[in-house]
Amino acid sequence: MHIAQSVCSGILLCPWIGQNAVPFGLAIVLIDVDHLLEYYLDTKNLNPRGFFVYHAIVVKNLDKGYLGLNIFHTIECYILLLILAGWFPIFYYVVFGFFTHHVLDQIFLIRLKHPFARALSVVEYCVRRKKHPVSLREIVKSGEVNIEGILDADRWLSKWKM
Ligand SMILES: [Zn+2]
Repeated sequence: MHIAQSVCSGILLCPWIGQNAVPFGLAIVLIDVDHLLEYYLDTKNLNPRGFFVYHAIVVKNLDKGYLGLNIFHTIECYILLLILAGWFPIFYYVVFGFFTHHVLDQIFLIRLKHPFARALSVVEYCVRRKKHPVSLREIVKSGEVNIEGILDADRWLSKWKM
């Protein structure tokens, strides 16, 4: 979905921002690289198919109070990028791309009725993490995981030793 967003918005913005549509479009997609880190830390697996199953299970279990942290989707990351943009203005387009993507992610979470399932800041995450499950592993451990309708979910869970 984000690739489609990126291509569409990149093409739409081309007349206004010219070749800067390229870093903007790339930023919209590449911001999600941080999900790979989240996936790897929780499962110690790098198989892209497992990655999609993992996210399907997490989204299905947001009602367990899950709190996620995606480092590129945080205020701290924006601050760092804005500092970089002071030296290399191309980073303004990266910030713009990250922000566009992040707003759409947030709308998705609001629609799911879990607007606070992902921390907006590293500091917020450190404060709130004590009261929330912060990984799929913890949700599975609690015995409340719901994998209904997710293809091969049980096979992947055993592969990840959860
Ligand atoms: Zn995202």
